Amino acid sequence: MLKEQILKLKLQGDIEDSAEVLEKYSHDASLFEVKPEIIVYPKNVEDIKKLVVFTAEQKKLGGASANISLTPRSAGTDMSGGPLNDSIILDFTRYFNHIIEVGGNFAITEPGVFYRDFEKETLKKNLLLPPYPASREICSVGGMFANNSAGEKTLTAGKVEDYVLEFSAVLADGNQYDFKPLSSAELKAKIAQNNFEGEFYKNIFNLINENYAAIKTAKPAVSKNSAGYFLWNVYDKEGDIFDLSKLFVGSQGTLGIITKIKYRLVKPDTQSEMLVVFMRNFNNLSEVVNEILKFKPESFESYDDKTLELALKYLPELIKIIKPKNILKLGFSFLPEAGMVLTGGFPKLILMAEFTGNDSAEIHKRVLTAQEAIAKFGLRTMISDHEDSQKYCTIRRESFSLLRNHIRGRRTAPFIDDIIVRPEFLPEFLPKVNALIDQYKKYLTYTIAGHVGNGNFHIIPLMDFKDPKSREIIAKLSDEVYDLVLQYKGSITAEHNDGLIRTPYLKQMYGAEIYGLFEKTKNIFDPQNIFNPRKKVGTTIEYALEHMVKTS
Ligand SMILES: Cc1cc2nc3c(=O)[nH]c(=O)nc-3n(C[C@H](O)[C@H](O)[C@H](O)COP(=O)(O)OP(=O)(O)OC[C@H]3O[C@@H](n4cnc5c(N)ncnc54)[C@H](O)[C@@H]3O)c2cc1C
Repeated sequence: MLKEQILKLKLQGDIEDSAEVLEKYSHDASLFEVKPEIIVYPKNVEDIKKLVVFTAEQKKLGGASANISLTPRSAGTDMSGGPLNDSIILDFTRYFNHIIEVGGNFAITEPGVFYRDFEKETLKKNLLLPPYPASREICSVGGMFANNSAGEKTLTAGKVEDYVLEFSAVLADGNQYDFKPLSSAELKAKIAQNNFEGEFYKNIFNLINENYAAIKTAKPAVSKNSAGYFLWNVYDKEGDIFDLSKLFVGSQGTLGIITKIKYRLVKPDTQSEMLVVFMRNFNNLSEVVNEILKFKPESFESYDDKTLELALKYLPELIKIIKPKNILKLGFSFLPEAGMVLTGGFPKLILMAEFTGNDSAEIHKRVLTAQEAIAKFGLRTMISDHEDSQKYCTIRRESFSLLRNHIRGRRTAPFIDDIIVRPEFLPEFLPKVNALIDQYKKYLTYTIAGHVGNGNFHIIPLMDFKDPKSREIIAKLSDEVYDLVLQYKGSITAEHNDGLIRTPYLKQMYGAEIYGLFEKTKNIFDPQNIFNPRKKVGTTIEYALEHMVKTS
């Protein structure tokens, strides 16, 4: 029925609804399973406009038609259930996959371009979009926008929200709009328009202006956040800037469908060296981290003993990913780690601080000084050149995939996968998190990897989903861990976003008043709930639990 109706729209793009295709689109990298009705591959903006108008008309009819919705999807690597839904899914990787222009310090792109292809083009002009995620080989630039992604360079380079110059989106009235930062005079002109654009500018400006103090106070006191709608970043009164990109970035396709993005790009540094620190326990962790931060590493990452164990176990696979110039040299470079395993001295946490610049002598001096500065803690340290350090970066980036691909009978369960607190709280916070998880160690094993410089950790347990107890534990442990995160004034997600897994916790994180403003925000842009329902607002923990996978 829905298929016949969509066929009548005579879209230029394709439609698919075979059992195999629906099965594929029922999943992303999260622990959810939600079966869509039909997949549309829009070929152009006109296709998207027609679908929005159609969906709006259907919703007005009420009854079963009221449940029709549009959920955008790019590469489908989301870990929160963001691109999953039960109605129409729009895949952007088939046709919206063109880089329109790479300029002197920017690129204009369609959302379905894979980051790996995007980077190849920008590097031809010696330009980079630095907040690429660990999933850089498999994700798209549109998904990065919609999740406000971040990665290993975020410590100094910021998140995707810091790189969006302009964007275009099809909104709930079926028209495409172009967005860029506005001065108050430009905003006034928009508000004066007697149309949908004038209406949404007026309403969102009033909402932010009238609740300005409460909204500014609600901003989480951490360096990265992807939870909720980032209302606090939109209106800069002092700077006279009103920028809706700050609201749409990270909104997971719930306010409209992104069709084009203009990203700011930067020139990457040419030289790097890495200081690797092996921590036997969490003692002095914040002192070590803060000491190293003084020397301004570009990135500061970490992974735990369980990740290292996996990496050593599956070394041949890692070597294939690293593609070293000299395999033998790479194999030998793991000797110190193998030695630690054999002598039973497995490090609890491995810290990797990467120092970059264009002057290798200056970098080397900085790394040496940082190494000397932490000598007082008596830790084992190592300095790696750019080539050698790739093994550490790869272990960190691939930790989640290693788990997903190799542990049979249990499945990765990302649900407390992206917590963040300020780094100074880590020595207190990490053992408490470990203790909470260890209550359930009969039912799960887990690895911890993350961005220690930001205080952001990815904890990915492995669980048996055939055991109904797993769902019970997920609900309990989420409550316990998020309570702890909020005690330390952190965020429940630094970069992976809310989706189905964290939307139910947004009220707990921000309180009823701010959550109410999120609901109003959704209503201003999408009063009929056309776009990606149940994300950011309007879902329950029960819905999430019901839609978790049932097999491992
Ligand atoms: C192994 C692994 C490692 C990861 N590491 C990181 C990491 O380091 N940092 C990080 O931030 N994330 C990470 N992720 C999560 C994920 O890969 C990123 O958030 C990524 O940017 C999502 O891109 P995608 O193209 O796969 O988006 P999708 O999964 O397709 O979609 C993500 C969200 O964007 C919305 N969306 C997609 N296209 C559009 C559009 N055209 N208009 C509006 N909304 C749209 C979807 O509805 C969905 O809500 C990781 C995932 C995996 C599997």
